[in-house]
Amino acid sequence: MEGLCKNCGQMHLVSAETQEEADRIASESCDCENEAKWHRMMEENVEMLCGEQSRDLNFIPLDDTSLRYVKTTCELIHAGFISNAKFSAANSEIKINGVLGKVDIKRTKKQTNQMTI
Ligand SMILES: [Zn+2]
Repeated sequence: MEGLCKNCGQMHLVSAETQEEADRIASESCDCENEAKWHRMMEENVEMLCGEQSRDLNFIPLDDTSLRYVKTTCELIHAGFISNAKFSAANSEIKINGVLGKVDIKRTKKQTNQMTI
């Protein structure tokens, strides 16, 4: 059936049971540029890399305040107010860079092994 993207109004052919579902699928699969969509994707990515889900990548999750800081930094870079940021948190280094209108987040684990005998 036909679903309508809530962001740009574009029509998409989707398989859905109800109009509501069709519109939701159309909105999610539409590749239009949209701030709300960007924001949702950014939140998901930051959660994956720095939130509880980062345990799957063998990272220590950031505390809520730091996590908010990462998201705010992404927003500031996205808005063009700052160009990059680098900081250390939860035994890792986090680099956020604005590259050609996109925001790159890189998290590197600080791992040092030392033995004193
Ligand atoms: Zn759209």
